[in-house]
Amino acid sequence: MFERWKKFLIAAAFDPRWTCAVCGRENFGEKYICEECEKKLPFIGENRCAHCGRPLAAAAPVCDTCRNRLTEIDGCRSVFRYAGAVETLIKKFKYGGGKWLAEGFAGYLAALFGESGFEADVAVSVPMLEKDEKRRGYNQTKLLAEAFSALTGIPAEDPLRKKRLTARQAALAGKDRLKNLIDAFRVKDKTLTEGKSILILDDVTTTGATLQAVAAALKKGGAKRVYALTIAAVSVGEKTKKS
Ligand SMILES: [Zn+2]
Ligand SMILES: [Zn+2]
Repeated sequence: MFERWKKFLIAAAFDPRWTCAVCGRENFGEKYICEECEKKLPFIGENRCAHCGRPLAAAAPVCDTCRNRLTEIDGCRSVFRYAGAVETLIKKFKYGGGKWLAEGFAGYLAALFGESGFEADVAVSVPMLEKDEKRRGYNQTKLLAEAFSALTGIPAEDPLRKKRLTARQAALAGKDRLKNLIDAFRVKDKTLTEGKSILILDDVTTTGATLQAVAAALKKGGAKRVYALTIAAVSVGEKTKKS
């Protein structure tokens, strides 16, 4: 009996749900983040691109990138600006083994989905190269899609395959990045995409190129509409290394 209690207490002490993921203080909420820290999170407001969902410095209908290209995405929104505590948490989620954060992030995505007006027959994750997924031990967007599915009842599917890029993304400029990416994704199972409204779930919108490429592949696979939701988006005009 005593042994069982001891096990329970140790598990409870290390259950991430019991401490705030931002400040580390005791937290008994459902979100892994305490109320005070949540208030300080950089939520994206009304100043955002109507197409890619990235935050804009000033009010405008769409960002310069979206104005200059045909887009395959029928709508994209992000919960947060990629900054501050959100950036730290996403890095922990992607690179720091913080798999358990999927559930907390999915809660925000489900809430945003509810107000987005997007339709979705299936929720789809962004595939990783097999070797990358093996190295990390998980695909964080797959975890997001599964947690999102548990909250919304929308089935999570994995209809895409990613193959190696011809050139390294970091070495390319915006337009070439997109070209390079578009051929990297392909639908492997059309029964999951044909005639469907599909919602892509991803961690960060940087330039939006990855989402564009994934959406293009899904449309090629017969998808009727493609929407995307991401946890966070880099502000338009901000420079980053990632696609
Ligand atoms: Zn906190
Ligand atoms: Zn845009």
